[in-house]
Amino acid sequence: MKGTMRAIVKAKPEPGAEYRTDWPIPQIGPHDLLVKVKASAICGSDVHIWDWTAYAQARLKLPMSFGHEFCGEVVEMGERVEGFAIGDLVAGETHIPCGQCYQCRTGLQHICQDMKILGIHTQGAFADYMAMPAVCAWKLPRDFNPELGAVLEPIGVGTHGALVGPVGARTVAVLGCGPIGCFAIGVVKACGALKIYATDISDMRLEIARKMGATVTYNPEKVDVAAEILEDTKGCGVDVVLDVSGAPSAIKTGVKIVRKAGRFTFVGIPEEPVSLDVPNEFIYKETEVKGITGRVMWETWYQVTNLLSSGLLKVDPVITHRYSLEQYREAFENVKHKRGGKVLFIH
Ligand SMILES: [Zn+2]
Ligand SMILES: [Zn+2]
Repeated sequence: MKGTMRAIVKAKPEPGAEYRTDWPIPQIGPHDLLVKVKASAICGSDVHIWDWTAYAQARLKLPMSFGHEFCGEVVEMGERVEGFAIGDLVAGETHIPCGQCYQCRTGLQHICQDMKILGIHTQGAFADYMAMPAVCAWKLPRDFNPELGAVLEPIGVGTHGALVGPVGARTVAVLGCGPIGCFAIGVVKACGALKIYATDISDMRLEIARKMGATVTYNPEKVDVAAEILEDTKGCGVDVVLDVSGAPSAIKTGVKIVRKAGRFTFVGIPEEPVSLDVPNEFIYKETEVKGITGRVMWETWYQVTNLLSSGLLKVDPVITHRYSLEQYREAFENVKHKRGGKVLFIH
């Protein structure tokens, strides 16, 4: 498709972004789909791009449109694409696998050796149209709610983190109740967790966490979370800890409250190295440690869509704000304040 479109564009190597109406519609290759975006969502990594942090500087070639959590309709297909049709509704798996490396050939495409990321290495979804490799498209029923379609990717992160080990009939602590933490709470609840502890420094986010199924919530600025949870578990600790915050203080709490031989899962990304008491918190406790990134292709996507269609997982409380692309400044300000839930663009 030829022509220009609306897009949020990172044009200059400085904080902020621009709203453009003259951005070229991306051209597709033989294995790609052109998607008319119906809804998109702002991710933490988009805030890195907005703020122009070291993370963004290391990855983006400017000028670039960005955004990678989206849902839209297929309007054009490369000649080699199979299994899709014009008019299909799709969501995007952000991780673009090479298809050739060790991980790609052993069912671990989401941690491909030569992984590219949609909206970071390719033009992004905060635009009218998005070009994407068909191999990263997840087909949805045509009447699927596009708002929900746009958040399947981050729900997938929470789901992968939650279900990388058993949670049924177990106690779970979720540290950090941003959208991914809240999605994870909904997932462990749906999968039969016995008791769910949730922490965040925002009381508004703790309220969303309770709506998603958290049994007990704590604000670490007000109480000693480790002391409370250890007392509640009679000194034993919880079976599973998911750190979704990436905050060193939360991680330090998490390794204290996980029970001996329990599972500690890193989901949130700390900005600096974190120093931990390895002998006491890991070795003598035989703590099981997991790091999580992205979603298993496509197992996590099946889990997410099946949990949603079963009715066991409902994520409405997490989607708190909706904006038009033109309101992009307000939308980003909202995400940066880390007070509410997921922020969407309705295109
Ligand atoms: Zn994301
Ligand atoms: Zn690969």
